[in-house]
Amino acid sequence: MKFSEHLALYKRGLKVMWEGSQTYVLCLIFSNLITAVIPYVPVYFSAKLIDALAMGKPVSTLALYVILTVGLVFLLSLLNQYINSLLSKATSEIYRSEYWLFSQKAMEMAYESIEDRDVSILEERIRTETQTGYNRFYLYLSVERFVGCVTRIVASVAMTFSFFLIGAIAWYLKLALLVLMALTIVCSVITTAKVQKMELQYWDDGVDMNMLSGKYDGYVNDYSAGKDVRLYLMGDDLAERMAKLDGKFYEMGIKNANRQTLLSLPSTFLNEFLKFTTYLVLIYAAMQGAVSVGSITKYVSCIMMLLGAVSGMVRTIQLVLSNNVYMKRYFSYLDIPNNMYKGSLTVEKRDDREYYVEFRDVSFKYPNSDIYALRHVNVKFRVGEKLAVVGMNGSGKTTFIKLMCRLYDPTEGEILLNGVNIQKYDYDEYMSIFSVVFQDFRLFAFSLGQNVAASDKYDRARVEECLCEAGFGDRLETLPNGVETCLYKDYSDDGIEISGGEAQKIAIARALYKNAPFIILDEPTAALDPMAEYEVYSKFNDIVGDRTAIYISHRLASCRFCDNIVVFDHGGIVQHGTHDELLADETGKYCELWMAQAQYYDEKKA
Ligand code: ADP
Repeated sequence: MKFSEHLALYKRGLKVMWEGSQTYVLCLIFSNLITAVIPYVPVYFSAKLIDALAMGKPVSTLALYVILTVGLVFLLSLLNQYINSLLSKATSEIYRSEYWLFSQKAMEMAYESIEDRDVSILEERIRTETQTGYNRFYLYLSVERFVGCVTRIVASVAMTFSFFLIGAIAWYLKLALLVLMALTIVCSVITTAKVQKMELQYWDDGVDMNMLSGKYDGYVNDYSAGKDVRLYLMGDDLAERMAKLDGKFYEMGIKNANRQTLLSLPSTFLNEFLKFTTYLVLIYAAMQGAVSVGSITKYVSCIMMLLGAVSGMVRTIQLVLSNNVYMKRYFSYLDIPNNMYKGSLTVEKRDDREYYVEFRDVSFKYPNSDIYALRHVNVKFRVGEKLAVVGMNGSGKTTFIKLMCRLYDPTEGEILLNGVNIQKYDYDEYMSIFSVVFQDFRLFAFSLGQNVAASDKYDRARVEECLCEAGFGDRLETLPNGVETCLYKDYSDDGIEISGGEAQKIAIARALYKNAPFIILDEPTAALDPMAEYEVYSKFNDIVGDRTAIYISHRLASCRFCDNIVVFDHGGIVQHGTHDELLADETGKYCELWMAQAQYYDEKKA
């Protein structure tokens, strides 16, 4: 990465941090500034005190220095405590903002990105890196360290500068000390850089292990995996895998610590040697009367603090450079574009519900795929019609629905609502005319009412009505808290577990509650046998009334009641008509599928 890119990333990081919580940034700066200044107070006044003692100054002067030392440190500590209390409040603010930034991004992202495996892997990796300390935490840490190091460097230089101006000390002694200081700094810089690199590599390896460990942990704790884990006695095996991973990380940690100690030896030796030499030079200068006795400890302390601050600075720069790799990944997620064309036309709210949808020569390839999932699809239908979309698995039925609901835009061709390309409509408004129960519909661990209304606020009577229409009435009567009953036990001990069939009824009630002109059932009945699916579909047909219902199934019998059936095969519509018309064409796909599936049905029931 080029230096300019590093700089740009760090600047952007600081901006995000500032926007996250200004209080946090200000408190962080002042708290670290004060923490860095505090040790210099006793160093400065101790020198004054020793000199005053040596010169036989009155007790009042001595007492003043003591009071100043203790008082200033006390006041600064008090101020720091106050700032730290603000900082701890602001910390939760900034972490919340961090969390929101990601959640908001996920909500704003185009559906095609959410479904993209690369995006979900990227998101998971960033989350694990964040938990390991990378990106945001190291960014905050670098600011904290920069403030501390710069303050200490400025204070140390200010307090040692006078030493090099003392004429009575021979120039070659000062030069020798300066050379030794430079040498120690260079050695410390090299060591620090190496140690820091090692440390970061260690944690980087830890990210992969953390991701793996998170997966194992998920298998152990996720109750949906609990059945298989128990039945196949996988508990010991999973525990062993986790223990192995733990042991490996621990071993790596010990090895890393040992290597770091060895690497730091020369630098530690030079540090101590510099301290020793500085003491010698200063004692010699004091004996010559060039410096006061009190200044000896002051200069030695300041020079050592300067060295510490310089190596701290190097460590921080190294940290920023390494962390920028993670910051880049972090921002790459936030920068995922939403390329969906956002129209602004309002969807005409028609009382007569006179809507019609037309697919005009639509073809579609999924992102990252070269194969057409849909090819030259032409179909037109209007509200009030009952349309069935049938075909084998993988023939393109769900893709057809996803395009109609604008979860994706067509690769070629266009989809029209009342003659206007659907891309020109305001996205949210367009969404409002569809209710879909997908194959993999999702209910949430909220109350029944909130699930049906898809909102916190709901019309209780309507929720009950929709649940009854969807066939959940009997079960609803058995629930003491009615629609306020929580689904699942995630957040409530009184939550109820529901069967696959019940979940499906609630999902259908949610679709009814939305009261959209288009209702789509995309095989949400996978768990049901063919006869039960047929019953659900035909019952639903009565419920939807004058709305447009689109039924999708690979089981032809489920949709035979529809007047309008389109048959999908290999991404295209190969037949179109009523059940009888389609069945009459003995060479057609519909007839072929019907014959293949006929064994499932008892002719009398069907
Ligand atoms: P159906 O609903 O008829 O079972 P789909 O519309 O789900 O079929 O799938 C049509 C084709 O598109 C299949 O070949 C399937 O593998 C492919 N496909 C579906 N979803 C994706 C996706 N997210 N990425 C890439 N290909 C997909």
